[in-house]
Amino acid sequence: MPCDAHVHLKNLLELDPEAEKARRRLGVAAAASAWNREEFAFHRKLAADALREGAPPVFLCFAVHPQAPRSLADEAAVPGPDAVIRASVAALAEYAAAGELAAVGETGFDLFDSGYRATETEQEELFAVHLDIALQYGLPLVLHVRRAMHKVFPHAGALKKLPAVVFHSWPGSPDEGFSFLRRGINAFFSFGTTIMLNHKNAIRSCAAFPAERLLFETDAPFQPLRGKRHSSFDDLPAVILAAAAIRGGQDAGTAGAMSADTAFIAPELERSSTAAFFRVFGD
Ligand SMILES: [Zn+2]
Repeated sequence: MPCDAHVHLKNLLELDPEAEKARRRLGVAAAASAWNREEFAFHRKLAADALREGAPPVFLCFAVHPQAPRSLADEAAVPGPDAVIRASVAALAEYAAAGELAAVGETGFDLFDSGYRATETEQEELFAVHLDIALQYGLPLVLHVRRAMHKVFPHAGALKKLPAVVFHSWPGSPDEGFSFLRRGINAFFSFGTTIMLNHKNAIRSCAAFPAERLLFETDAPFQPLRGKRHSSFDDLPAVILAAAAIRGGQDAGTAGAMSADTAFIAPELERSSTAAFFRVFGD
Protein backbone atom coordinates (compact mmCIF):
# COMPACT_ATOMS: atom_id res chain seq x y z
CA MET A 1 0.00 0.00 0.00
CA PRO A 2 1.55 3.35 -1.02
CA CYS A 3 0.90 6.14 1.50
CA ASP A 4 0.38 9.86 0.98
CA ALA A 5 2.01 11.72 3.87
CA HIS A 6 0.50 15.07 2.91
CA VAL A 7 -2.68 15.85 0.99
CA HIS A 8 -5.42 18.48 1.07
CA LEU A 9 -8.32 16.13 0.43
CA LYS A 10 -11.13 18.69 0.41
CA ASN A 11 -9.29 20.96 -2.03
CA LEU A 12 -8.50 17.95 -4.20
CA LEU A 13 -12.07 16.66 -4.25
CA GLU A 14 -13.35 20.10 -5.22
CA LEU A 15 -11.19 19.88 -8.36
CA ASP A 16 -11.66 16.17 -8.93
CA PRO A 17 -14.79 14.63 -7.37
CA GLU A 18 -13.49 11.14 -8.32
CA ALA A 19 -10.29 11.49 -6.26
CA GLU A 20 -11.55 9.58 -3.23
CA LYS A 21 -12.52 6.70 -5.53
CA ALA A 22 -9.02 6.83 -7.03
CA ARG A 23 -7.46 6.79 -3.55
CA ARG A 24 -9.40 3.66 -2.66
CA ARG A 25 -8.68 1.98 -5.99
CA LEU A 26 -4.93 2.62 -5.59
CA GLY A 27 -5.04 1.58 -1.92
CA VAL A 28 -3.50 4.82 -0.69
CA ALA A 29 -3.57 5.59 3.04
CA ALA A 30 -3.47 9.37 3.46
CA ALA A 31 -2.68 12.04 6.02
CA ALA A 32 -5.10 14.87 5.26
CA SER A 33 -4.35 18.43 6.39
CA ALA A 34 -7.15 20.86 7.24
CA TRP A 35 -6.97 24.38 8.60
CA ASN A 36 -10.58 25.31 9.48
CA ARG A 37 -13.65 23.63 10.98
CA GLU A 38 -15.47 23.15 7.69
CA GLU A 39 -12.50 21.44 6.05
CA PHE A 40 -11.86 19.30 9.13
CA ALA A 41 -15.49 18.16 9.30
CA PHE A 42 -15.25 17.12 5.65
CA HIS A 43 -12.06 15.10 6.28
CA ARG A 44 -13.52 13.59 9.44
CA LYS A 45 -16.48 12.22 7.46
CA LEU A 46 -14.16 10.77 4.78
CA ALA A 47 -12.08 9.12 7.52
CA ALA A 48 -15.16 7.67 9.22
CA ASP A 49 -16.57 6.38 5.91
CA ALA A 50 -13.21 4.79 5.03
CA LEU A 51 -13.04 3.07 8.41
CA ARG A 52 -16.59 1.78 8.19
CA GLU A 53 -16.18 0.57 4.62
CA GLY A 54 -12.79 -1.07 5.16
CA ALA A 55 -11.06 1.37 2.77
CA PRO A 56 -7.46 2.57 3.28
CA PRO A 57 -7.41 4.95 6.26
CA VAL A 58 -7.47 8.75 6.29
CA PHE A 59 -5.50 10.28 9.17
CA LEU A 60 -6.57 13.71 10.35
CA CYS A 61 -4.11 16.60 10.67
CA PHE A 62 -4.98 20.18 11.59
CA ALA A 63 -3.11 23.47 11.75
CA VAL A 64 -3.34 27.05 10.58
CA HIS A 65 -1.17 27.09 7.47
CA PRO A 66 1.79 29.50 7.74
CA GLN A 67 0.58 31.16 4.53
CA ALA A 68 -2.82 31.94 6.11
CA PRO A 69 -1.93 35.32 7.67
CA ARG A 70 -1.02 36.60 4.23
CA SER A 71 -3.67 34.88 2.11
CA LEU A 72 -6.49 35.87 4.48
CA ALA A 73 -5.30 39.48 4.40
CA ASP A 74 -5.32 39.32 0.57
CA GLU A 75 -8.89 38.04 0.58
CA ALA A 76 -9.92 40.77 3.06
CA ALA A 77 -11.99 38.05 4.69
CA VAL A 78 -14.94 38.94 6.86
CA PRO A 79 -14.89 39.10 9.87
CA GLY A 80 -11.15 39.76 9.44
CA PRO A 81 -8.07 37.56 9.30
CA ASP A 82 -7.33 37.71 13.04
CA ALA A 83 -10.76 36.43 14.01
CA VAL A 84 -10.61 33.65 11.41
CA ILE A 85 -7.19 32.56 12.67
CA ARG A 86 -8.26 32.71 16.32
CA ALA A 87 -11.25 30.51 15.52
CA SER A 88 -9.00 27.94 13.85
CA VAL A 89 -6.53 27.94 16.74
CA ALA A 90 -9.45 27.32 19.11
CA ALA A 91 -10.55 24.44 16.88
CA LEU A 92 -7.03 22.97 16.95
CA ALA A 93 -6.98 22.99 20.76
CA GLU A 94 -10.41 21.36 20.84
CA TYR A 95 -9.55 18.58 18.33
CA ALA A 96 -6.24 17.84 20.05
CA ALA A 97 -7.92 17.61 23.47
CA ALA A 98 -10.60 15.31 22.04
CA GLY A 99 -7.91 12.95 20.68
CA GLU A 100 -9.08 13.44 17.10
CA LEU A 101 -5.71 14.31 15.57
CA ALA A 102 -3.03 12.06 14.12
CA ALA A 103 -0.74 15.11 13.85
CA VAL A 104 -0.57 18.88 14.15
CA GLY A 105 0.12 20.30 10.71
CA GLU A 106 0.90 21.78 8.42
CA THR A 107 2.57 24.50 10.41
CA GLY A 108 5.94 26.18 10.02
CA PHE A 109 7.40 29.11 8.19
CA ASP A 110 7.06 30.49 4.68
CA LEU A 111 9.44 33.32 3.81
CA PHE A 112 9.29 32.68 0.07
CA ASP A 113 8.75 36.32 -0.94
CA SER A 114 8.26 39.77 0.55
CA GLY A 115 4.50 39.25 0.95
CA TYR A 116 5.07 36.21 3.18
CA ARG A 117 8.05 37.79 4.93
CA ALA A 118 5.76 40.65 5.97
CA THR A 119 3.87 38.16 8.17
CA GLU A 120 6.97 36.64 9.82
CA THR A 121 5.92 37.76 13.31
CA GLU A 122 2.42 36.27 12.93
CA GLN A 123 3.98 33.05 11.61
CA GLU A 124 6.27 32.87 14.66
CA GLU A 125 3.33 33.35 17.03
CA LEU A 126 1.27 30.71 15.24
CA PHE A 127 4.14 28.24 15.19
CA ALA A 128 4.68 28.66 18.93
CA VAL A 129 1.01 27.86 19.62
CA HIS A 130 1.09 24.80 17.36
CA LEU A 131 4.31 23.50 18.88
CA ASP A 132 2.89 23.92 22.39
CA ILE A 133 -0.23 21.93 21.53
CA ALA A 134 1.82 19.16 19.88
CA LEU A 135 4.01 18.96 23.00
CA GLN A 136 1.04 19.01 25.36
CA TYR A 137 -0.74 16.14 23.60
CA GLY A 138 2.33 14.21 22.41
CA LEU A 139 1.41 14.63 18.72
CA PRO A 140 3.67 14.53 15.65
CA LEU A 141 4.22 17.82 13.84
CA VAL A 142 3.97 18.24 10.05
CA LEU A 143 6.13 21.15 8.90
CA HIS A 144 5.89 23.43 5.88
CA VAL A 145 9.18 25.29 5.46
CA ARG A 146 10.05 27.54 2.52
CA ARG A 147 13.27 29.59 2.58
CA ALA A 148 13.03 29.38 6.35
CA MET A 149 15.05 26.40 7.62
CA HIS A 150 16.93 28.83 9.91
CA LYS A 151 13.61 29.44 11.70
CA VAL A 152 13.28 25.73 12.60
CA PHE A 153 16.73 25.01 14.08
CA PRO A 154 16.23 27.19 17.21
CA HIS A 155 13.27 24.92 18.10
CA ALA A 156 15.33 21.71 17.89
CA GLY A 157 15.21 21.17 21.67
CA ALA A 158 11.39 21.18 21.68
CA LEU A 159 11.07 19.22 18.41
CA LYS A 160 13.19 16.48 19.95
CA LYS A 161 10.47 15.88 22.55
CA LEU A 162 7.82 15.16 19.89
CA PRO A 163 7.04 11.60 18.77
CA ALA A 164 7.87 12.58 15.16
CA VAL A 165 8.50 15.61 12.95
CA VAL A 166 7.54 15.33 9.28
CA PHE A 167 9.10 17.80 6.88
CA HIS A 168 6.53 17.92 4.11
CA SER A 169 8.01 18.45 0.63
CA TRP A 170 11.48 18.59 2.20
CA PRO A 171 13.13 21.72 0.80
CA GLY A 172 16.47 21.57 2.61
CA SER A 173 19.91 20.19 1.88
CA PRO A 174 21.08 16.73 2.96
CA ASP A 175 23.32 18.41 5.58
CA GLU A 176 20.37 20.21 7.15
CA GLY A 177 18.38 16.97 7.31
CA PHE A 178 21.21 15.01 8.90
CA SER A 179 21.71 17.87 11.33
CA PHE A 180 18.12 17.47 12.60
CA LEU A 181 18.69 13.73 13.01
CA ARG A 182 21.97 14.30 14.88
CA ARG A 183 20.11 16.60 17.26
CA GLY A 184 17.94 13.66 18.24
CA ILE A 185 14.80 14.71 16.38
CA ASN A 186 12.71 11.80 15.10
CA ALA A 187 12.59 13.47 11.69
CA PHE A 188 10.95 12.13 8.54
CA PHE A 189 11.48 13.67 5.13
CA SER A 190 8.58 13.63 2.74
CA PHE A 191 9.08 13.94 -1.02
CA GLY A 192 6.57 14.67 -3.74
CA THR A 193 6.59 15.74 -7.36
CA THR A 194 9.50 18.15 -6.74
CA ILE A 195 11.93 15.25 -7.19
CA MET A 196 10.52 14.88 -10.74
CA LEU A 197 10.77 18.62 -11.37
CA ASN A 198 14.54 19.02 -11.11
CA HIS A 199 14.66 20.49 -7.59
CA LYS A 200 18.33 19.91 -6.83
CA ASN A 201 18.18 19.90 -3.01
CA ALA A 202 15.17 17.61 -2.92
CA ILE A 203 16.86 15.18 -5.34
CA ARG A 204 20.18 15.18 -3.44
CA SER A 205 18.35 14.71 -0.14
CA CYS A 206 16.16 11.92 -1.50
CA ALA A 207 19.33 10.09 -2.53
CA ALA A 208 21.11 10.67 0.79
CA PHE A 209 18.68 9.99 3.65
CA PRO A 210 18.23 6.52 5.17
CA ALA A 211 15.24 4.73 3.58
CA GLU A 212 13.44 4.40 6.92
CA ARG A 213 13.33 8.25 7.13
CA LEU A 214 11.58 8.71 3.78
CA LEU A 215 7.90 9.44 3.22
CA PHE A 216 6.12 10.25 -0.03
CA GLU A 217 3.31 12.68 -0.71
CA THR A 218 1.24 14.35 -3.40
CA ASP A 219 0.43 17.63 -1.54
CA ALA A 220 -2.57 17.30 -3.85
CA PRO A 221 -3.90 19.34 -5.45
CA PHE A 222 -1.07 21.84 -5.03
CA GLN A 223 2.05 20.30 -6.65
CA PRO A 224 1.16 19.49 -10.26
CA LEU A 225 3.62 17.90 -12.65
CA ARG A 226 4.27 19.91 -15.81
CA GLY A 227 1.27 19.99 -18.09
CA LYS A 228 -1.17 18.92 -15.34
CA ARG A 229 -3.74 21.07 -13.58
CA HIS A 230 -3.16 19.57 -10.16
CA SER A 231 -1.36 16.76 -8.39
CA SER A 232 -3.32 13.62 -7.51
CA PHE A 233 -3.02 10.15 -6.01
CA ASP A 234 -2.13 8.85 -9.47
CA ASP A 235 1.22 10.67 -9.14
CA LEU A 236 2.26 8.66 -6.09
CA PRO A 237 3.57 5.52 -7.85
CA ALA A 238 5.56 7.77 -10.22
CA VAL A 239 7.05 9.70 -7.29
CA ILE A 240 8.15 6.44 -5.65
CA LEU A 241 9.63 5.21 -8.94
CA ALA A 242 11.49 8.51 -9.34
CA ALA A 243 12.84 8.21 -5.79
CA ALA A 244 13.97 4.64 -6.55
CA ALA A 245 15.70 5.84 -9.72
CA ILE A 246 17.44 8.63 -7.79
CA ARG A 247 18.57 6.24 -5.06
CA GLY A 248 19.76 3.80 -7.71
CA GLY A 249 21.98 6.51 -9.15
CA GLN A 250 19.74 7.18 -12.15
CA ASP A 251 18.43 10.54 -13.30
CA ALA A 252 14.79 10.80 -12.10
CA GLY A 253 13.83 12.11 -15.53
CA THR A 254 14.81 8.80 -17.10
CA ALA A 255 12.79 6.70 -14.64
CA GLY A 256 10.63 5.67 -17.60
CA ALA A 257 13.52 3.58 -18.87
CA MET A 258 13.63 1.64 -15.65
CA SER A 259 16.95 0.09 -14.68
CA ALA A 260 17.15 -3.22 -12.83
CA ASP A 261 18.17 -1.25 -9.72
CA THR A 262 15.06 0.92 -9.88
CA ALA A 263 12.80 -2.10 -10.35
CA PHE A 264 14.40 -3.65 -7.28
CA ILE A 265 14.45 -0.51 -5.10
CA ALA A 266 10.93 0.81 -5.77
CA PRO A 267 8.97 -1.96 -3.97
CA GLU A 268 11.43 -1.75 -1.05
CA LEU A 269 10.89 2.01 -0.84
CA GLU A 270 7.13 1.57 -0.93
CA ARG A 271 7.40 -0.92 1.94
CA SER A 272 9.76 1.18 4.08
CA SER A 273 7.81 4.41 3.51
CA THR A 274 4.55 2.66 4.38
CA ALA A 275 6.08 1.40 7.62
CA ALA A 276 7.34 4.93 8.37
CA PHE A 277 3.92 6.42 7.56
CA PHE A 278 2.12 4.15 10.01
CA ARG A 279 4.81 4.71 12.68
CA VAL A 280 4.17 8.46 12.40
CA PHE A 281 0.40 8.70 11.86
CA GLY A 282 -0.95 5.30 12.95
CA ASP A 283 -2.21 4.55 16.38
ZN1 LIG B 1 0.22 21.34 1.89
